[in-house]
Amino acid sequence: MKRYPFLDLATVNAPYMDALREAADRVLCSGRYIGGSEVEALERWLCSYAGIGYAVGVSTGLDALRLILEGYKVLGRLSEGDEVIVPGNTYVASVLAISQAGLRPVLVDPDETTMNLSGASIRNALTEKTKAVMPVHLYGRVAWDEETSTLVREHGLIVVEDAAQAIGAEGIGRVGDAAAISFYPTKNLGALGDGGAIVTDDCELAKAVRALANYGSDRRYHNIYKGFNCRLDPIQAALIMAKNHDLDLANGRRRERAKLYSTLIDNALIRTPEMPADELSHVWHQYVVRVADALRDEFRQFLLDNGVETDIHYAVPPHRQPCYYNELSEFRLPTTERLADEIVSLPISDCTSLSDIAEICDIINRFRQSGL
Ligand SMILES: *Cc1c(COP(=O)(O)O)cnc(C)c1O
Repeated sequence: MKRYPFLDLATVNAPYMDALREAADRVLCSGRYIGGSEVEALERWLCSYAGIGYAVGVSTGLDALRLILEGYKVLGRLSEGDEVIVPGNTYVASVLAISQAGLRPVLVDPDETTMNLSGASIRNALTEKTKAVMPVHLYGRVAWDEETSTLVREHGLIVVEDAAQAIGAEGIGRVGDAAAISFYPTKNLGALGDGGAIVTDDCELAKAVRALANYGSDRRYHNIYKGFNCRLDPIQAALIMAKNHDLDLANGRRRERAKLYSTLIDNALIRTPEMPADELSHVWHQYVVRVADALRDEFRQFLLDNGVETDIHYAVPPHRQPCYYNELSEFRLPTTERLADEIVSLPISDCTSLSDIAEICDIINRFRQSGL
């Protein structure tokens, strides 16, 4: 039986092997193993690519989020206990960043159609203590609407974008005050280990996070903050730069795959994701369908029996994780919980060809359709 892997990183990285070896070799021979020109080159590229003033390479996407929040704290724009609104259906890292920075995560349901944070849900959760919102560009789709924009302006809220899944999506880093990017290997531009970055147009914030990521020092042996060690590894920076020229192409291929799925899937039990009006505002980190009537596990098993691997992003939302039982169990998030029970991510990377996708759609269309 033919197998359709969900994601095989060796296949995804295979076209870049020569360039990756050369990049790693360059760093090995350089004698410079922390910071330096490789990290600077990546930061310069990010600025020009995202059309943004400042970029700071850091160790992970989680650290990027946390450092942005810590940065606003040292600048006096956030303080201990302030509330940060975040969608309940996000990856746990968004919420961890908020609680690790000593702030209070206020979880809200996403919009049912976009599966993203909406102005309507922000409005319902606003209190005097709300100081920031964290739109998560989940599955690669930019999370932003008119009402969010209005509320943010009216209430003077800081906007920290979790863009871990959305590098290359039109507008990331510019809808908000600062954005966190992840180069985790499975992301749209993956390193071969951990990596992350902060992009922002705010010069003061960029300076603060750069210092915070390096023991809080603004120059050698001079510590202005009680900082962290969250620097980007130059080997990872070099490896990312060996692949980055293809990012738009790779995102284009993801769009093509998403469109094909949405065109070919024709099964009343399977709901395909909404296509945004502006196609450049979605980079399809995941293609996530919804399965009706508690048939999700049966659907996944049916696909697996036919060779198709799937995944769930995410089966257990943060407020249902053991580490948050005490702190966040008061939140009632019916949409988040319904989504967690119904969503299935289908293969969408370069290791799934367009003809594979057509075959997967044939299999999907046979699910529970007797007589076919
Ligand atoms: C991957 C991811 C993160 C964390 O990035 P890491 O580099 O793995 O730390 C944060 N938020 C979201 C939505 C993610 O998908």
